[in-house]
Amino acid sequence: MSDTASSLRTEGLSKSFGGVLAVDGATVELRDGKINGLIGPNGSGKTTFFNLITGMIKPDAGRVLYRGRDITRHSPHRIAHAGLGRTFQLCRIFPRLTVLENMLVAVRRTRLRELLAGLRDKGEVERARHWLRRMGIEHLEDAEARDLSYGQQKLLELAAVLMAEPELVLLDEPAGGVNPALIDRIVSLVRDLNAEGRTFLVVEHNMDMVMGMCDHVIVFDRGAPIAEGPPSAVREDPKVLEAYLGV
Ligand code: ADP
Repeated sequence: MSDTASSLRTEGLSKSFGGVLAVDGATVELRDGKINGLIGPNGSGKTTFFNLITGMIKPDAGRVLYRGRDITRHSPHRIAHAGLGRTFQLCRIFPRLTVLENMLVAVRRTRLRELLAGLRDKGEVERARHWLRRMGIEHLEDAEARDLSYGQQKLLELAAVLMAEPELVLLDEPAGGVNPALIDRIVSLVRDLNAEGRTFLVVEHNMDMVMGMCDHVIVFDRGAPIAEGPPSAVREDPKVLEAYLGV
């Protein structure tokens, strides 16, 4: 396999918890420049897979390759710094910091050296305001993050991830707990960000969102991919129906 085939690839990735094999030899290749979706029944290993890619947990076996480099044992910070940004199922923001402060902290979380410099850089403030504008929450910059609605907090988290200018953005259940109008807004933002060249990997339970938004869908069952392709093909795949319906 060539190193240039995909910027993110896993090879034989495995992870167990006690006796439970959560991810079982998963070999997956993302499509560059596309919106990739990761779906599968509950307990099929999606979250564990996500956490393995982003360095939150370490595999028992297998490798994660990013732009041809083995990042399997790298820390989450180092992986983020290499260009992989991620959101979390439950937003990770600082509730008592303002919206703008959350944005400025986000960039330093991934660039520890700059943290030591400790300066509030004018360019960063401008970039923060740019992303807040893109998310439509620029008017909230001085509000404490805890006073934002849940949907606004999700937008803030995505804006904060974008501060690090990731090439690959991993979204963990972006539609979870979000109203339909905001889901439409998130979909259109993701499409715009993708059109500007960012690759996405989206783990999501909302099937309509996945099928409507993604170019390429990977289906997990029992810790490994069982099917992949465009949404129309995946939807009809007997293996996928079997995994979901147990028929
Ligand atoms: P999904 O995100 O597809 O629902 P998960 O990756 O959360 O799947 O879980 C896969 C399997 O691993 C499940 O059987 C789950 O119970 C188990 N599992 C996940 N995380 C842990 C953990 N920290 N400790 C024990 N078992 C876990």
